[in-house]
Amino acid sequence: MVIGILKESGAEKRVAMLPGEVVVLKKLGTDIIVENGAGEKAWASDMEYLSAGASVKGRNDLIAKSSLLLSVNPLIEENIESFSEGQILCSVVNPVENNKWLEKARLRALTVLALDLVPRTTRAQSMDILSSMATVAGYKAVLAAASLSPKFFPMFMSAAGTIKPSRVLILGAGVAGLQAVAIARKLGAVVEVFDVRSAVREEVKSLGGKFIEVEGAREDAGAGGYAVEQTDEFKEKQQELIQQRAMVADVVIATAQIPGRKAPVLLLADTVRKMKPGSVIIDLAASSGGNCELTENGKTIVVNGISITGKSDYPAMMSSDASKMFGSNVINLVKILVDKEGNLNLNMEDEIINCTTAVRGKDYVSHRIIQLLNI
Ligand code: NAD
Repeated sequence: MVIGILKESGAEKRVAMLPGEVVVLKKLGTDIIVENGAGEKAWASDMEYLSAGASVKGRNDLIAKSSLLLSVNPLIEENIESFSEGQILCSVVNPVENNKWLEKARLRALTVLALDLVPRTTRAQSMDILSSMATVAGYKAVLAAASLSPKFFPMFMSAAGTIKPSRVLILGAGVAGLQAVAIARKLGAVVEVFDVRSAVREEVKSLGGKFIEVEGAREDAGAGGYAVEQTDEFKEKQQELIQQRAMVADVVIATAQIPGRKAPVLLLADTVRKMKPGSVIIDLAASSGGNCELTENGKTIVVNGISITGKSDYPAMMSSDASKMFGSNVINLVKILVDKEGNLNLNMEDEIINCTTAVRGKDYVSHRIIQLLNI
C-alpha cells in the first residue's frame, strides 16, 4: 500500500508523521510519499524524510499515487473531485462540525477513517489520538496559566518571607484534566477538581489533587466512559460549589466536554466577577462553546482583572512531540489495516476498523457517526 502524508494548512504546525515514525511505518511493508515541506513547521526537513525511506513529491502527484492519504486535519479545502473512488482519507474528522464535507466524501465513494472515532477500548488505547492530544492540551494549559498568572505556583520560603502556593481549580478530569492536575502538582500548586464521573475520584487523589464531590450526578454505563447531560438540580448545586471554590482559586483550568454536544457551562459570568483580580482562566472547551460563560474562542480577554483564555488548539502549536505522538498512534492503527506484505486489508469485522470508518462505499459505517449525525 502507498501512504501519502500531506502538508497541513493554516496555523497547524503538526504533521501526521515525523521521519522517525516513517522508518517504523516502512517496516510494515508500505511505501510512503511525503508532500514537499510537510514537516517544515514540525522541524522535519524533506531531506530527513528521504533518509527515512520516503519519497517527496508535490501534492497532486501524491494524491494521484497514494491509496491512503494521511493528514492531521481533514482535507476539506481540497476539491473532492481530486480524490478517486475507494481512496482512503485518514485524519481527525470532527464529524459533527464537518458533516457536509463527510457527506460529499460519501457521495464520492471515498473511505474516510476518522481518527477521532477510534473506540476508547483497551485494545485501541495505543491508537487513541484524542488521548495523546488531550495530554498535550492539559500540559500546555498549565504552562499558559503559570505564565499569565502574577503569582508563583509553588510555595516559597525565602529571606523575603513565605509565598503561599497557587490554588488551581480544574473542571473536568478526563485525559486533559488529569494531565493538568499532574503538571500543576509538579509545579507545586494546591489542586482541586470537579467531575461528574465518580470513577475519576481515585485518579485525582493519586495525583495529589482534591476531588470535590457534588452529590446526585447522572452517570451512564452505556456512554463509553464519557459524561452525560446532568439534571437542572445537579447543575445548580454544582454551580454553587464551583463558585465557592473559584472565589479562592488563582487559576481555573476548564476541560469539561460531552461528546457531540455543546460543552457544559460551569463558570457563570457572575462567578467570574466574584473571583480575585489577577486570576487566570484557561478554557480548553472553547471550541465547543466553552465551560466559562465569558470565553471567546481563540482569544485572551480580561474581565474585571481576570484573564480568560479560550483555547482548544494547543496541540496544533506543539509541533514536535504532538506530531510524534500522532504518528505513533497512526502506526498502531496501520498495523491492523495491512497484511504481512503491507497490502491493504480493511477487515470491517474488526471492531476498531468498523468504529473508525466514517464512510465507505457510499455508506455511513461507524455506529458513532450514525448516532452523532442522527442519520
Ligand atoms: P472529555 O474530553 O469528553 O471530557 C473531559 C471531562 O469532562 C470528562 O472527565 C467528563 O466527565 C468531564 N465533564 C463533562 N461534563 C462535566 C460537568 N458537567 N461537570 C464536570 N465535569 C464534566 O473526556 P476524555 O478526556 O476524552 O475522556 C473521557 C473518558 O474516556 C474517560 O473516562 C477516560 O478515562 C476514558 N478514556 C478511555 C480510554 C481507553 O480506555 N482507551 C482512553 C481515553 C479516555
